Amino acid sequence: MELDRLNLPAFQEGSVWLVGAGPGAPELLTLMALHALGSADVVVYDALVDARVLRLARPGAALDFAGKRGGKPSLQQPDITLRLVRLAREGKRVLRLKGGDPFVFGRGGEEALALAAAGIPFRIVPGVTAGIGGLAAAGIPATHRDTNSAVAFVTGQASGGAIPDGIDWASLSRGAPVLVIYMALKHLDAIAARLLAAGRAADEPVAIVSNATLPGQRVLVTTLARAAADAMQSAIEPPAVVVVGPVVPLAARINRMGSNC
Ligand code: SAH
Repeated sequence: MELDRLNLPAFQEGSVWLVGAGPGAPELLTLMALHALGSADVVVYDALVDARVLRLARPGAALDFAGKRGGKPSLQQPDITLRLVRLAREGKRVLRLKGGDPFVFGRGGEEALALAAAGIPFRIVPGVTAGIGGLAAAGIPATHRDTNSAVAFVTGQASGGAIPDGIDWASLSRGAPVLVIYMALKHLDAIAARLLAAGRAADEPVAIVSNATLPGQRVLVTTLARAAADAMQSAIEPPAVVVVGPVVPLAARINRMGSNC
């Protein structure tokens, strides 16, 4: 197969590859992710990894779910890292497959640190993050020369479920013309209120991109003042990224001709 021509590194027994699966659509996997799927003995995957991606795993590979299922609480992070360490020590080729990029709001850093501390050989394989690739799939550029030279990536939820404490919304509002907010739906009302209080305009354009790149992709275009109410009314579902700023209206022009081939 063509992948052989690339001389990609061999997936060694007893090692862990921490791999980003991209925002959902299988065609957005990297070649390294495909290679890892074809070689792994066990795939430890998160809830946001699409079933079609898992079907690319080597026949006989064990598929090991590490996310939330049916409302049951997710495995605790220490349990996941212990499991990765144990599987690697058993001599398995362990593929830790995470949605998007493993190092963007995905605890990939924590897993890598734990593997390093345990002395397990590992490799990081980047992926297409939802806050960039998901926007592009909706025709929204994350940066555009006429509108913004900076963009900020923000999470709307801390690990306990509340809005993160550490965000200086006033500075963020002044400093980044475009904000891309992951996990924003739950607290969209409060987040919008903080941005408005910090001086962002009520009619500032907002897009909510749900299930980006997947068959159920939906894009809701609204304003900062109306975002939370519109999201509720249209019953837009997670996973979704919220983008605030002047890049949002470009999508109408781009999509007029952009998705027709
Ligand atoms: N590591 C991931 C992010 C994990 S946090 C990445 O780099 O993309 C989970 C959040 O990512 C979701 O709440 C949502 O905000 C975003 N997300 C992931 N997949 C998405 C998708 N297909 N469409 C829209 N948002 C998505």
